[in-house]
Amino acid sequence: MLLCADIGGSFIDFALVHPDGRLEQRHAVPTPVDDAESFITALETLCAPYPALPLHIAIAGVENPQTGHVHAANIPGILTVPLREKLSLRTQRVVRIGNDADCFALAEARFGAARGHRNVFGLILGTGIGGGLVLDGQIVPGLGGVTGELGHAPVVIAPPFLTDPDEVAATVPLFRCGCGQSGCLDTIAGARSLERLHLWAGGTPETSHAILRLWEEGDRQATRTLSVWMTYTSAALAHVLNVTGSTVVPVAGGLSNSDLLVQTLDRAVRDRILSPTSQPLLRRAILGKDAGILGAACLGPELCYDPC
Ligand SMILES: [Zn+2]
Repeated sequence: MLLCADIGGSFIDFALVHPDGRLEQRHAVPTPVDDAESFITALETLCAPYPALPLHIAIAGVENPQTGHVHAANIPGILTVPLREKLSLRTQRVVRIGNDADCFALAEARFGAARGHRNVFGLILGTGIGGGLVLDGQIVPGLGGVTGELGHAPVVIAPPFLTDPDEVAATVPLFRCGCGQSGCLDTIAGARSLERLHLWAGGTPETSHAILRLWEEGDRQATRTLSVWMTYTSAALAHVLNVTGSTVVPVAGGLSNSDLLVQTLDRAVRDRILSPTSQPLLRRAILGKDAGILGAACLGPELCYDPC
């Protein structure tokens, strides 16, 4: 068995995980976000009744493999400590840390909508756009700990050949992204960005849910907005599939609650990839709130598996 924690900016979701994915003793405690000592103590307390069981963590952040520092925007207090090393020392056990989007992809590949596939790209269409890449049952460790970050694909570019002011005004603007770049997919495709895109396209202020509902009802303005969204999101995702050879894309996040959005994006992506297929590639994820904990469980050799 393993101890697994899914750590967000508000709560630490904690459970014992059996090799078959069953969860036990699940409970949540508030996440201490402002200082590393309180954060480490909270996990030490959770682990104390279970000596020696490995601790696996899914966190909304990235562990730098060189420094061991975990950059998690919602938990600034842990930024400057080598977290895994400190936790391992204090809790006297093996500790593994994974990015939450990577853990989501791993969980869906192992236990969820992508079971039986070797190459899996997990896509999150939520407040932000995220992703995780799993090959042969393993997360792909990237440069600086980063892989699968589709949201920061620089898809919107300033066309250098346009000089007519009307044409320039008609192009999607280069919105600034939280990562410091401009024109990332996240700046037009996340839930808040979709609302901004809708305003830019001439719509009235609406929530992302309302925009999707209007689009599903055939509203002309929402159709314009979603047409831009679909063009850029499908382009970025087609690029990912051509490069990674992923044969299935489990989709999670608030925007994925629209079946029509997932189906329309699936068709748009299949129209743009090199290898045509009549089989849907995108499918709704099925693990919901369990994905973080179950993905964390798969970070080490304990639950390693052959996907086929
Ligand atoms: Zn970005």
